[in-house]
Amino acid sequence: MRIESCDTGSRLRTNSVSGVKSARIELMRVFNFSAGPAMMPQEVLERTQAELLDWQHTGMSVTEVSHRSKEFVACAARTEELLRQIMGIPENYKVLFIQGGGFGQFAAVPLNLTKPGDVVDFVLTGQWGIKATQEAKKFGVEVKVVADEKGSGYTTVPAQSSILPTPGAAYLHYTPNETIGGVEFGFIPETGELPLVADLSSTILSRPIDVSRFGVIYAGTQKNMGPAGMAVVIVRDDLLDRARPDTPSIWNYQKMAQADSMVNTPPTFSIYLLGKILEWIIEQGGLEGMALRNRTKAQTLYSFLDASDFYSNPVASDARSWMNIPFLTPAPDLNKQFVVEATAAGLTNLAGHRSVGGMRASIYNAMPQAGVEALIEFMKEFERVNA
Ligand SMILES: *Cc1c(COP(=O)(O)O)cnc(C)c1O
Repeated sequence: MRIESCDTGSRLRTNSVSGVKSARIELMRVFNFSAGPAMMPQEVLERTQAELLDWQHTGMSVTEVSHRSKEFVACAARTEELLRQIMGIPENYKVLFIQGGGFGQFAAVPLNLTKPGDVVDFVLTGQWGIKATQEAKKFGVEVKVVADEKGSGYTTVPAQSSILPTPGAAYLHYTPNETIGGVEFGFIPETGELPLVADLSSTILSRPIDVSRFGVIYAGTQKNMGPAGMAVVIVRDDLLDRARPDTPSIWNYQKMAQADSMVNTPPTFSIYLLGKILEWIIEQGGLEGMALRNRTKAQTLYSFLDASDFYSNPVASDARSWMNIPFLTPAPDLNKQFVVEATAAGLTNLAGHRSVGGMRASIYNAMPQAGVEALIEFMKEFERVNA
């Protein structure tokens, strides 16, 4: 197990200021290209650090405060309000903070929206969608894969015309951004009467989205929304009365909605940090600002890859992700060497997912343009030495 970032990435210094012991962390920040948990905006970390010992004059950190206190209840309400404002979430949708990450929702969605024997439709464009089908199958539903991009090695998205929902199915599920393959939809599938369910884990808040097109949106939080372990679920209120009686209460959308996501102790630090991230997004110009920032970063890297004879990206041009960009050198050994040398240069976590190899640059909201430019400079130098 490597603990490099703890060992060499930061040094803890203790000094004494007016009799009070305080610790100062001297940071050597890297550009972290991890697919998740992912880079956080530096301003958010600094603001969090500044109020960690005494949050809102409670004399405690936010992690020590009761979730029923007026301070925390207000914090959670504000986080929800900011998310509603930024995403333009309509009145008839509930916003839930649920534990168990994106993966938990692979089970929670069928528990909340189906009865045994129901048909559920899936569109598959990569590994996360496949995992979601495997979890759904445990709950006695008939999984129908209505479009599967396996033939392209999951480097494409289907055309709208080839997505044919099953009449009477409980919902249609898809993965707008497949994090491992770097495959992203450029459109929202039309599903007629069927509620559309989207696993937005790796692209939520990256650009504006029309929430009213969806029945359920869910997203694990460790990519664009803070620490791991929580999912944000946005659910249309007419879908709230369908949960199976044996659905665990902490995953039951209706019970969670009635309890303001506090059926049990919620992940308070995650909710607090999400609020901080949302404030940062507003400062950056909201989702329009995020879209501009993200489109520019992605175009910068794709343009470089497309102009290169040394590096390549396998994804079809109309399916390329703004968030996760896989790429290869001409040889497997060079890929390994690339990752090692990039890490030494402060460009970390560039190894592709263990199932696909190569490299992957995850450039979520918090990654600045300067990080992408530093990566490209490194790539040029690596090519010059190794081509
Ligand atoms: C990361 C990710 C998940 C899993 O999230 P966990 O919080 O680890 O459960 C699910 N779906 C997609 C698309 C992801 O990127």
